[in-house]
Amino acid sequence: DEPVEASAVPQAGTDGLVLLRRVGVVDPADLDDYRANGGYAALRRAFALGPAAVIREVLDAGLVGRGGAAFPTGRKWDATARQPERTHYLVCNADESEPGTFKDRVLMEGDPYALVEAMTIAGYAVGAHRGFLYLRGEYPRALRRLEHAIGQARGRGLLGPDVLGQGFAFDIEIRRGAGAYICGEETAIFNSIEGRRGEPRSKPPFPVEKGLFGKPTAVNNVETLLNVLPILEHGAAAYAATGTAASTGTKLFCVSGTVRRPGVYELPFGATLRELLALAGGVPEGRTLRAVLLGGAAGGFVRGDELDIPLTFEGTRAAGTTLGSGVVLVLDETVGLPRVLLRIAEFFRDESCGQCVPCRVGTVRQEEALHRIADRVGAEAAADVALLRDVGGVMRDASICGLGQTAWNAVESAIDRLGAFE
Ligand code: NAD
Ligand code: SF4
Repeated sequence: DEPVEASAVPQAGTDGLVLLRRVGVVDPADLDDYRANGGYAALRRAFALGPAAVIREVLDAGLVGRGGAAFPTGRKWDATARQPERTHYLVCNADESEPGTFKDRVLMEGDPYALVEAMTIAGYAVGAHRGFLYLRGEYPRALRRLEHAIGQARGRGLLGPDVLGQGFAFDIEIRRGAGAYICGEETAIFNSIEGRRGEPRSKPPFPVEKGLFGKPTAVNNVETLLNVLPILEHGAAAYAATGTAASTGTKLFCVSGTVRRPGVYELPFGATLRELLALAGGVPEGRTLRAVLLGGAAGGFVRGDELDIPLTFEGTRAAGTTLGSGVVLVLDETVGLPRVLLRIAEFFRDESCGQCVPCRVGTVRQEEALHRIADRVGAEAAADVALLRDVGGVMRDASICGLGQTAWNAVESAIDRLGAFE
């Protein structure tokens, strides 16, 4: 099996990494190598603490979800653990599909045992004995490595009826997506695992109350779960000492577009976009940075004169954009913005599950309007810009799930912040 491509992790082997520390360093097919590099210390500490104290550590650490929405992980775990039903589930959302996002792939391919260990800790904390790993169908190498890691962990008593001889039963089942972006939405994952159409459910009720098979379920992104390991290894206070008060720890950023060294980078929250781009080698000679799309297709643009923006959830929100799942897509002056927006609109129209009218119709109308104004500016474009605002507002207010609610974000941001179509 081939190693993780070195080019995907330009920082591999660098001192000070937390989430990427083993990627490109350990053998992803060797449990003993994982253990020799600190593996399974966190699970042992979890067993020593007990489930309630594990949740307390995660709350105190200030960990928030890394899938994009930044919901406090400890609150999610606590709410799941408190539900009176006997059966609880854990779901790891590994259906990484946001355009420009490839961090979870790097983690799963490079450090698969870490995800197995982190899922076991999460299951222990929330009272789940079964964990489902919902994996993006287009990640065959991650599938092979995770299957191997789960099999080895089972064979060595790290999964199964009596994990580490501690009387806790836990096992992991991998389910694969089949190429639909919407199947990464947490309630669509439940439908997909249950054998139904991968369509989102209305929330509330939230999964913590009524999730997979109608049971209380904690759903966490891959990167979120991997943060639990350093929290337990070093304690909540040490973890929270990195980053800012509202965004603790480190974050993986997926840098792509016009930069010299695209790839996955890990930085403490609070580093600036300028620092991240410098790490990625900056834009190539002879090119000028025009804008950076943060947060992916559902995100927003920042201009070339705004590179001192702090990379935190609160900092990007204050600047009118979002950190989302860590997409940093760099556009230079040669990139045609209308074409980029049209591509984003095509994507949402294509990926809308069609269940609710605002999104099903709105994504089509948005794409049509962008087609019409692709070559127009100023007065000629004004009527369609007004239509885009109208349709975008309805999608945001009336769509069932995040796809429809955010399908106009990037277009709105390009109009308001970059002056597209003026
Ligand atoms: P959301 O804000 O509805 O929910 C975030 C999480 O918090 C969910 O797990 C939800 O169940 C939970 N939650 C929210 N309120 C709760 C409450 N009161 N009680 C208990 N739990 C609660 O966001 P979402 O629709 O799940 O996700 C949207 C995000 O997904 C966007 O930010 C986007 O960036 C991201 N996204 C990521 C990818 C990717 O590939 N990583 C793809 C598409 C979208
Ligand atoms: Fe489906 Fe779009 Fe409605 Fe979400 S908002 S349920 S993707 S139609």
